[in-house]
Amino acid sequence: MRLNISGIQGREGASFRVRRHLPGDFLNTVPEVIQVLGPIAADLKVTNTGDAYLVAGSFSVDVQLRCSRCLEPLNTTLEASCEEEFLKTPHFGDEEDLLEEHYVAEGNELDTTNLIREALLISLPMKVVCSPDCPGLCPSCGEPLAAGECGCPSTDIDIRLAPLSKLLELSPQAATPERRKDHGITQEKTFQSKD
Ligand SMILES: [Zn+2]
Ligand SMILES: [Zn+2]
Repeated sequence: MRLNISGIQGREGASFRVRRHLPGDFLNTVPEVIQVLGPIAADLKVTNTGDAYLVAGSFSVDVQLRCSRCLEPLNTTLEASCEEEFLKTPHFGDEEDLLEEHYVAEGNELDTTNLIREALLISLPMKVVCSPDCPGLCPSCGEPLAAGECGCPSTDIDIRLAPLSKLLELSPQAATPERRKDHGITQEKTFQSKD
């Protein structure tokens, strides 16, 4: 979004507010995003601080994400905020400044596109999960464990112990009905805690 700042140029302390709906198409390139469900709602205040233009505000957008454990879709609202300065002129100061990336006003306009994109991308959770205790997929058959019993005997076994479970299967003790029952009970507890 490009903002025209001619109304506050040369007037230190002056500000204006912008509320706008913006396309959120860029989010479609994010692997966790299945689809963008609506426009980005942006609410910004731009202030002439004398040295710079301060852009402060918030954005939100409804998206459908994919759970990283069970791969099922989930709808959520991404929310982000910003408080960023746009320099009035490109700044070539000391070394410290060179390391930092600055936004710069372009004539009588501020281009907030990257600012909004970055804020929303940062707001994405590191790991998308449909619920904190989502049991994910059965490592044996790939069915979602939350859907119910997939029929695999030892889905609660740690993947790192899988080679060990193969050994256990070979031993006659592991094949006793009692052991199978134990597995069933453990699994049921997992499902109860979800509700
Ligand atoms: Zn899930
Ligand atoms: Zn299974």
